[in-house]
Amino acid sequence: MSESGFLQNVRVVLVGTSHPGNIGASARAMKNMGLSQLVLVNPLEFPSDQAVWRAVGAADLLENARVVSSLDEAVEDCTLVIGTSARGRRIPWPVFEPRRCAEVIASEPAGSAIAVVFGGEKMGLSNEDLHRCNYHLTIPVNPEYSSLNLGAAVQVVCYELRMKQLELLQSEPAAEMDGWDSEFCRADQMEHFYEHLEQTMIDVDFHDPENPRQLMTRLRRLFSRTRLDKMELSILRGILTNTQRNASINKATNQPAKPRGKRKDK
Ligand code: SAH
Repeated sequence: MSESGFLQNVRVVLVGTSHPGNIGASARAMKNMGLSQLVLVNPLEFPSDQAVWRAVGAADLLENARVVSSLDEAVEDCTLVIGTSARGRRIPWPVFEPRRCAEVIASEPAGSAIAVVFGGEKMGLSNEDLHRCNYHLTIPVNPEYSSLNLGAAVQVVCYELRMKQLELLQSEPAAEMDGWDSEFCRADQMEHFYEHLEQTMIDVDFHDPENPRQLMTRLRRLFSRTRLDKMELSILRGILTNTQRNASINKATNQPAKPRGKRKDK
């Protein structure tokens, strides 16, 4: 494994940062720990002298930072997306603390693109952003005062990643998922899958988009936990396509739907 190892595959995504100083502080924290890819989603002010001033010797990360207009764009090629949050949410996701999270990241197949996503200073990540993540990360701080400064949160996460990297450099075990027979799906492929799934559920009258409740959120959580590979995704997309085709034939010929759970004997 090279000196940079898996750290070079981990990008830090800052969503809607209000204070450019925090962007600089994050860049500094990253470079100190050996990370280099910074992506900014709709920063309030960037480029900025304040960011450069706070980055000190890490101004090169700011120069190379990618600025995009949506989280989807920031993570579209990632197979693992981790969202950070100080608070639990209404529909809980699997939550790791930074050390466990570094283990999960280090177990990804070599060369996988991985994102750790941080929210803005005022509101943190929205539920919609968090639902685009496979797992959530919470730094277990004092429950009476749980929100860290953004740069400090980036520092803690990057530090744990570095510690894991140093441990691996000493022992060099094979990553858990190395040698898997199909690549994991990218975030943009999962988004297309969710659109297809939702449309199919509408087509078969299972889902009412006027009254969505938490159906899509719960299904997103299910598949986020599972981590689909490309072969599995292609099977599911095939099932959805055939389901849609049969539903439209049934509707066209006005056949009543078959009762649920009854199978024809062969
Ligand atoms: N007021 C916001 C917190 C914003 S802090 C809220 O209550 O959600 C800015 C960002 O720093 C957060 O979106 C998150 O990415 C990170 N952060 C702050 N404290 C954290 C913690 N205890 N665990 C994980 N991430 C944290």
